[in-house]
Amino acid sequence: MSSTLFEKIINREIPADIIYEDELSIVIKDIQPQAPTHLLIIPKKVIPKLSDGLEEDKETLGHMMLVAGKVADLLNLDDTFRIVINNGAKAGQSVFHLHLHLLSGRSLNWPPG
Ligand code: 5GP
Repeated sequence: MSSTLFEKIINREIPADIIYEDELSIVIKDIQPQAPTHLLIIPKKVIPKLSDGLEEDKETLGHMMLVAGKVADLLNLDDTFRIVINNGAKAGQSVFHLHLHLLSGRSLNWPPG
């Protein structure tokens, strides 16, 4: 099977601005930022989308949330950020390797578009 775009980034086959990495996850800058800070928190395990997550992925899924808080601290985001997961093409997902978007640095409207 061919690897996902994010696996290629994890494997350093294509470049990215890497902000943080640990054994379960990597955090990169989004190539097309939608806010002054726009990061992608990506699990190293390929789960195509959130709704494909299994009971056995509990640690990975929880870890991503904790990493979001950790990088927000590292980057001094003043506890002000939004996490988004697009699940499925109709919800805006374009890369089928689960990732959290972390957006910060501008006012964020609600409801989201
Ligand atoms: P999705 O649409 O699947 O929720 O989010 C995918 C995100 O990946 C988009 O925000 C898009 O800008 C970002 N993206 C797509 N290709 C690349 C790339 O090659 N490098 C980086 N850093 N981000 C990418």
